[in-house]
Amino acid sequence: MSNETSTNHLNPLIGVDVPRLEKEMERYQQILDDHADHAYRVAEEARQLGLDPKPFVEIPRANDLASRTEKLLIEHLDSYPVADDIRALLAEHDRETTSIMMAQRVAKGFREKGYDMVKSIDVGLRVGLAILTEAVLVAPLEGISEVRLLNNVDGSPFVSVHFAGPIRAAGGTAQALAVLIADMIRRELNVGPYIPSDGEVERVKEEFGLYRGNLQYRPSPAEIDEIVRACPVMINGESTESIECAGYGRVRNIDEARIRGGVLLVIGEGMCLKAPKIQKHTERLKVPGWDFISKFASKGKEDKGGSDKDAFKSRRVAPIDKFMKDIIAGRPIFGGPQQPGGFRLRYGRGRPSGLAAASLNPASMLVLDDFITIGTQMKIERPGKACAVTPSNDSEGPWVVLSSGQFLRIDESEHLRKIHGDIRSIWDNGEIVIGYGEFMENNKNLVPAGYTTDWWASDLIDALETEEDVNAFSEICKGLGQVPDGIPGAVDVQDGFAQFHVRRRWHRYLSKLTLSWDQASSVAERWRTALAPPHNPWFLDLPIEWVPALLDVLPNGIIEAQTDIDVEVNHPYQEDSWMRFKGAAKGWQASTMDKLQPETIPPLGHMETIGLDVKPEEPIFDDKLPEGWTFMQHGLLKGALLLLGVSHHHDGDDVVATCGWQAMIHGLGYSVKDGRLHQNVDLKSLVEQRIVELRNCNTVLRNESTRLEELKKQRAVVRIAAETEARQQGLGIAETDQVGQGAADSVEDTGPENAALYKTSLRIHDDHVVDGILPLIREISSLRWEHAAPQRVGCRMGRPEKSAPREMSPRSHMLFPIALEGGNQRLISNAAGKGSIRVQMGKRICSICGKDSPFIQCHHRVVDDAGIPKVGETCGGRTDMKEATGNSRRRGEMQSVPLESIIEDAQLRIGM
Ligand SMILES: [Zn+2]
Repeated sequence: MSNETSTNHLNPLIGVDVPRLEKEMERYQQILDDHADHAYRVAEEARQLGLDPKPFVEIPRANDLASRTEKLLIEHLDSYPVADDIRALLAEHDRETTSIMMAQRVAKGFREKGYDMVKSIDVGLRVGLAILTEAVLVAPLEGISEVRLLNNVDGSPFVSVHFAGPIRAAGGTAQALAVLIADMIRRELNVGPYIPSDGEVERVKEEFGLYRGNLQYRPSPAEIDEIVRACPVMINGESTESIECAGYGRVRNIDEARIRGGVLLVIGEGMCLKAPKIQKHTERLKVPGWDFISKFASKGKEDKGGSDKDAFKSRRVAPIDKFMKDIIAGRPIFGGPQQPGGFRLRYGRGRPSGLAAASLNPASMLVLDDFITIGTQMKIERPGKACAVTPSNDSEGPWVVLSSGQFLRIDESEHLRKIHGDIRSIWDNGEIVIGYGEFMENNKNLVPAGYTTDWWASDLIDALETEEDVNAFSEICKGLGQVPDGIPGAVDVQDGFAQFHVRRRWHRYLSKLTLSWDQASSVAERWRTALAPPHNPWFLDLPIEWVPALLDVLPNGIIEAQTDIDVEVNHPYQEDSWMRFKGAAKGWQASTMDKLQPETIPPLGHMETIGLDVKPEEPIFDDKLPEGWTFMQHGLLKGALLLLGVSHHHDGDDVVATCGWQAMIHGLGYSVKDGRLHQNVDLKSLVEQRIVELRNCNTVLRNESTRLEELKKQRAVVRIAAETEARQQGLGIAETDQVGQGAADSVEDTGPENAALYKTSLRIHDDHVVDGILPLIREISSLRWEHAAPQRVGCRMGRPEKSAPREMSPRSHMLFPIALEGGNQRLISNAAGKGSIRVQMGKRICSICGKDSPFIQCHHRVVDDAGIPKVGETCGGRTDMKEATGNSRRRGEMQSVPLESIIEDAQLRIGM
């Protein structure tokens, strides 16, 4: 995050042993190849037995996309070579472009070789689709059932592509691009465009209306009209549903009255949803006739108001509450969306962590009553979905408040065990360590994390540029062990590899250091690093309403030397000097922490003070005091120390801050000189000024929202009146709606009273939510400050037991079609009891006896000399598939299967 960057640090290969990794990769590839060879050998042997539909392994082996495409389409290509061309094109273009170019090239090639138009278009289209889908799906084979040349009303031919169910696997982009490819091919081959009749358009609308299946997007009738009329290729298909269209069942160019699922899929999920992707290609390739797609492509964008460049853009990271859905009684929630107290986000990956996993300090697991343990599944706010929990003791543990009032962080699970019974409140869950790759994998933007020691170490290794820097650093940090060798920030280094390791050693050393306030502030002053924990209070959590009162009581603090205190466990780091606030714990009771926060926080005037007799300012944006419950439980001073994460304990009625307090007072404009507090800057006037500014801003925002509310009401009144009148005139629903909308729009929205002021107010409010009081601290402090905890990750315990293995009971060993002959339990014994059943199966002919049999091995019984079939002895001859009659792709035919005798034979064969 440093501004200075020298080139050698940024080379991602520095520090990576490339030759070794390459060798490992080769070895790995070799293992894969060997095992694949072995698997093929076994499979070929098994297939030789003739027990499968094909006596050889159908899946061809190929090294790359090009040869895969060639092998996948082997039956369509008639040994026309495509692999070399694909390879050459892929070297220069991306996959989508290659698929379009290749499709045209193959179609043209086929035409030149004398194939008919339909075959040429068909093959070209399949090649294009195969390249699009990386030739690993059946979509190019079975997703397109056929291509036809049909005729428009005027007799001119056009291309009709018939999509079938398996096109679904190809995904929306490939579906839509298949249509574009078909269009590119027909242009190449000079076939005219499709001009649908009204009936053909209405038919698609009717199908969308009747279809009950799942579609990601259902276009409106107007959209369907537009797409079907404008698309230069007919999107056609086989009937897949049992529902028939009543109004437009019999339409020219469409075979059957039943709904065509493939058509709906390609139009809805392909053409509509992937319009931006098609548009990219149609614009680049300048394909005429595809202007209609731009309307769909820009559709989503307009809705978001993207047209107004001056529109207010919030800096806020929106809370996500999706993970809170379906919460279960008895399973805890560890933090609401972005709620302080929940886990603080830290980027990184613990060693035992893996994909979709996050890490927590073991003490955090323990403190949450063991609900979380290694492997527990948690639903998390960011990056979303769920994660498995793994331990990481490099991360910070939880902050707790004990019955004695002591407030501390616990990083060691042994320490936690000692005081477990004493914990009255878990103030903060500690850190959650999430790899940045988890965000990438889930396609989510990164969100800011706090300034931790990792970030500090990264800043510092860049800053330690010279020998002198390193010496100065080890002088400042005397007594913290030997600093590593080398100069981590050196710019002109010969050996980048060695330097990588120098930097790595330094980073490890630094990220585990805990500096005293004096050391930390000296480092921060000299090298412009910000302050890392424990000297980085959670300033964002302290509401600005609290600050004036805190500034009032701060000068009463008495600085004293560290002494022995009678506590079981100490905060992980203690400063040499402490700060005592006399009487700040007077009247404080631990039992208030056992109570639940009341539904409504009383107004400030009705609240009792605890400890010092000071109160925060009246709330600015809310009706209730921010952190009001904290104030009611702990009073202002202790409350502020808790909110900022400043460790402390009670001594009688006094509160004694032990660590982090120097950073707090520094941020608030004070420093320690000769054992006394010294005010450097008067922050209070700045804060009061800011509060006035925020109150003004709130007035503007409230006025505007009242005005909008008023406008809405007015419009509703006018609308109802207009609609009532329209209805009395006997207008239809759509017309009434239109009249109502028109009337509502006639009430003019004059905009905010002062548009510029309103916008400024929005910005001020937004900044306040994002940064809190930190900008004021940055203004008065000579040090650099970064947020300590800008993002909390809400999470709850998941229900991993729901994902048990799915088992069939009883387990099945085979599948056999018995249609409905098995009764409602589908029992094969019931079906067998009927002797012979009629079911749809493939037609095959025995190579020995020549009879029909649906099996791979002939099931007919051998006949003895007297002509009587022998029970238990079957012909067993290999059967072959009968040539399909008609052009249906369905291979099954209704036939009688003597199930009873087949089962009898089978039982005898296995000795039952
Ligand atoms: Zn036979």
